[in-house]
Amino acid sequence: MKYFIWVMALLAVLSGCESQVNGNQAEKTKGKQAQPQKVVQKEQLPMEEKVTFKHSIPVKMDPSLPMESLATFKPNARPNENKAKYDLKVKAEKDGQFQVTANIQVENLSADSWEDLVFHFIPNYFTEKNKPIHLQSSAEVHIWGIQVAGKTAQYNLEKDTLQILLNESLKPKENVPVTVTYSFKLPENGARFSQVMGKYYLAEWYPLVSTYRSGWDKADFSLHGESYHTDFSDFTIQYDIPEEYAIVSSADDDPKELVTKGTITGSNIKEVYMAIVKGMPMKSAVVDGTEIRVFSNRQDEAYEAEYLELAKKALQFFNANIGKYPHKQLDIIMDESGMEYPGIVTVAQGNTNTFAVVHEMAHQWFYGTVSSNPSYTPWIDEGTTNFATYLFFIKNEKQAPADVFAAADDHIKMAKDKGKIVPSNYSLKEFEPENILTYSASVYEIPSLKLWALSGNNADRALDYLKNYYRLYAYKEVDANEWLRYTRAYFKIKDPKALGDWISL
Ligand SMILES: [Zn+2]
Repeated sequence: MKYFIWVMALLAVLSGCESQVNGNQAEKTKGKQAQPQKVVQKEQLPMEEKVTFKHSIPVKMDPSLPMESLATFKPNARPNENKAKYDLKVKAEKDGQFQVTANIQVENLSADSWEDLVFHFIPNYFTEKNKPIHLQSSAEVHIWGIQVAGKTAQYNLEKDTLQILLNESLKPKENVPVTVTYSFKLPENGARFSQVMGKYYLAEWYPLVSTYRSGWDKADFSLHGESYHTDFSDFTIQYDIPEEYAIVSSADDDPKELVTKGTITGSNIKEVYMAIVKGMPMKSAVVDGTEIRVFSNRQDEAYEAEYLELAKKALQFFNANIGKYPHKQLDIIMDESGMEYPGIVTVAQGNTNTFAVVHEMAHQWFYGTVSSNPSYTPWIDEGTTNFATYLFFIKNEKQAPADVFAAADDHIKMAKDKGKIVPSNYSLKEFEPENILTYSASVYEIPSLKLWALSGNNADRALDYLKNYYRLYAYKEVDANEWLRYTRAYFKIKDPKALGDWISL
């Protein structure tokens, strides 16, 4: 039964990423949607629907490089070539309308002169026109105006791709303020960007500046896996929410009481998640100077204490074995499916979700602090996170490795029986969205088992691999070649063909 619970728990982790398929089936309706009554401005419409821009080229692994010595190993992470700072004003109305003014300062750190800026504008993916057909409810999204340096700018919008055309080119080392004024209503029971029983879950709710490396790192949004990629930025959010609601967010300075107006901040984080909730019981504890808060729905209150105890142990374990958790607060919301955001995670309720709690927490180190592009290299953060989760149960909970990894073995067997196994280093778009088991086996489980084997089935060695990796790459981005360089150096892999049974070179 234990194996079954583990597999179910892992599927619960994955379900948030992969349960929704048919992401490309957009409904082909056209035309301007009705303007909400309260807003008097005229909506600024996009110029055209086809968006073309200069794309970056993903870094490939170079197996011809010699193996390096760990003693002299230097990370060579390629920095992002832009910098963004976000100042967001958000007003939530009683009827569920959100009015947002996003002021974003964008700096060009590349050698190119830019004629455009490219953003992920994920709310627009959930409109009636663009949403996957299986999502029952849609979002309403209206852009009221876009200004660059105070002047109206034209833009193109296609699904979640927002391209703002610059009135004047932005030269290297220059920066420019961009203002996007928009409103939205969340879809009922959507996915991450969602409202559920009067609670509002706002994932990727503002224009996210794409990273840039000789081109924009902008992939099409997909509900399967994670397709958006951002750099570390500073955020200020001025909020105005209805009475009786509370803000639970990525910020370290969430208000303790029910405060309807205020400002929260986040510095050097990849994105800002915000839940606006009411009637959720909360239990908290302080561990290693970090306040852990667990929020549940009333019917799940019984699990709150259990999740809090587990989170305390996991935080101490990762602090001691990988690196210090970088925030003052860690929020766990027992609602929605399993998903990680800086300083906050969501985990569905239920007693089979202990694996999911630890997995989403481990993402604070591998995704939240060591960055990677989940569209190009989904296995880098998911495989590493999953491996760290298994190590918690082996080392801290003193469970037998054979029992712990039995879940991974079962998962891979199911994937082989019902589909196929592909190289772990496929990009997100190389996976078939409907084949969830193949994706989860190849991206989550096989990397965990292979890293365990490379560690000589030794938890201390495995944790040392992760600790060094974290030390070398915290607040940097690991691409496919950096992962190969480091992994070869750490495990003394002279011939990269030794990885050929799970990594395609
Ligand atoms: Zn994950």
